[in-house]
Amino acid sequence: MHLTTPYDDNNIFAKILRDEAPAIRVYEDEMTLAFMDIMPQLPGHVLVIPKSPAANLLTLPPEYTQAMMLTTQKVARAVQKAMDAPGFMIAQLNGAEAGQTVFHIHMHILPRRDGLEFKLHARVLADMDELQTIAARIRAAL
Ligand code: AMP
Repeated sequence: MHLTTPYDDNNIFAKILRDEAPAIRVYEDEMTLAFMDIMPQLPGHVLVIPKSPAANLLTLPPEYTQAMMLTTQKVARAVQKAMDAPGFMIAQLNGAEAGQTVFHIHMHILPRRDGLEFKLHARVLADMDELQTIAARIRAAL
């Protein structure tokens, strides 16, 4: 898929936003939603999406770009606290060639600590009970 390809209303994150697909939500406001990545690269891997039909950063309206970044900052603080992680990494992929697999823009929040390796993304489905436990810790840290 190329960066100029039109947005597909049936992508999985659009379905999550319409409540047509399940998600373990940790934070939501008028313009954004944060939920657990179901194939985490690390424990505590959270995604932040804007409630705007944009496939990538270049097509996201400025007000949603701002809202997405502010939510990323807020949720990253809670993820870092909940996972007791000394650091965290933010990732955001644009275009299949860059590794993007879901074409609704999203920020990855990945808590990091020295020596903790992370998996390739979108590969292994997590244990849902474990994800729920981590999500509860992140919600409590918000
Ligand atoms: P990207 O490759 O940057 O587009 O990342 C897409 C991310 O979405 C990957 O890390 C996947 O593990 C994750 N993902 C795919 N489907 C779902 C889903 N239904 N719920 C939560 N995360 C998902």
